[in-house]
Amino acid sequence: MIELIKGFKDILPEGISLWQRIETEAKTIFDDFGYREIRLPILEKAELFARSIGDTTDIVEKEMYSFEDGKRGLVTLRPEATASVVRSYIQQRMYAADPIQKLFTIGPMFRKERPQKGRYRQFYQIDAEVFGIASPYMDAQMIFMLMTLFSRLKVAGLSVLLNSLGCPACRPAFKEALLSMIEAKKEALCENCSRRLLKNPLRVLDCKVPTCREAVKEAPAITDYLCKGCDDHFSAVKEMLSGLGVGYEIDKGLVRGLDYYTRTIFEIQTSALGAQNAVAGGGRYDGLVELLGGPSQPAIGFAIGFDRLCDIMAQYEKPSQKPLQVFFITEGAEAGKQGANWVSRLNQAGVTAEMDYGERSVKSLMKRADKLDAAFVVIADGEGLEKGQVILRNMKTKEQSSISTTGITEQLQSIIVNQRS
Ligand code: AMP
Repeated sequence: MIELIKGFKDILPEGISLWQRIETEAKTIFDDFGYREIRLPILEKAELFARSIGDTTDIVEKEMYSFEDGKRGLVTLRPEATASVVRSYIQQRMYAADPIQKLFTIGPMFRKERPQKGRYRQFYQIDAEVFGIASPYMDAQMIFMLMTLFSRLKVAGLSVLLNSLGCPACRPAFKEALLSMIEAKKEALCENCSRRLLKNPLRVLDCKVPTCREAVKEAPAITDYLCKGCDDHFSAVKEMLSGLGVGYEIDKGLVRGLDYYTRTIFEIQTSALGAQNAVAGGGRYDGLVELLGGPSQPAIGFAIGFDRLCDIMAQYEKPSQKPLQVFFITEGAEAGKQGANWVSRLNQAGVTAEMDYGERSVKSLMKRADKLDAAFVVIADGEGLEKGQVILRNMKTKEQSSISTTGITEQLQSIIVNQRS
């Protein structure tokens, strides 16, 4: 048997109702908040990610699925969606029609991370991006929208972690302060952090290795280094969140692993998943559109980990499936032909109906109807059909009656509708 690759998974029919429910709820929210859907390719030029995410990040350094594609050069299975959405915003000149664009996209991402519970190599994200709005109110509104979605999905036990990464004007001073503090503890750093310390000291704040965590315990807080513009921006975000009743914690160690962020960054964590506790994360990236060759336009976005959200909800949501309304038991070739016809007509009318296509005894087919939890069974045999009659059995009350085959699908539809009301 050929098995699937470690870190990849099958999403089976039993679990799909949850995925669909989340997707429907997310689409409703996006609709209400004025976001439009965009669908983008899964494969992009490797350079897009190296330039946007940053070449000293874990994702770009070691987690991308890339391969040479002849003349096209090195291509990559997208590890996240923001870079692609930005690429499209620029390439399709969306900004020319209207610099303000509110977009969302849902789909698979690929990262060669060490697989574990809640961490996959192919995982799904629900991603939202807003271009052209620099206001801190958009930052707060996005977090509010995210929390509204989680509350509609009845996901509890979440916390909102918030930080600001400043801007190119104030971040260098923080980097310097951080660097001089960490350099004194250089020996304690893991190999990864020592290697990229000079180029990107913020990465150390993000590292999960215990000795690195210890080394940055006394690290300065970036929020103490913000320039007036960034400080005012951060205050306005916090004020609006409080006004909207969204609780949050400031986490000075939150840096979010990607280079493109500026100002507000946030992460939504859950207490229900163990080590992989981030269900969503995002932030502002005011410089990225320009960095990738577009006009200077501010932007902000987030991504929800779809798989993790499902893992949380699976703990309390039962999978659901449209119940089977009618099961046909047919005896003989003519009845079989009729039955198949009626099943097709009923399905077309939105009624879940099934029949047994094999030839089995009525007794074993009744057992199957029970197993499928059918609301009604129709028994059609050659003799009954000659008289234009079939037997209808209500599986709950066990009542049986004879009904005419003339207009049978309409009759069944009205019986089912009446039974529901
Ligand atoms: P990021 O793009 O790293 O900010 O991730 C956004 C969200 O995607 C995280 O909060 C996780 O919920 C989810 N996520 C990231 N990486 C993985 C992964 N390897 N497996 C499952 N979910 C992930």
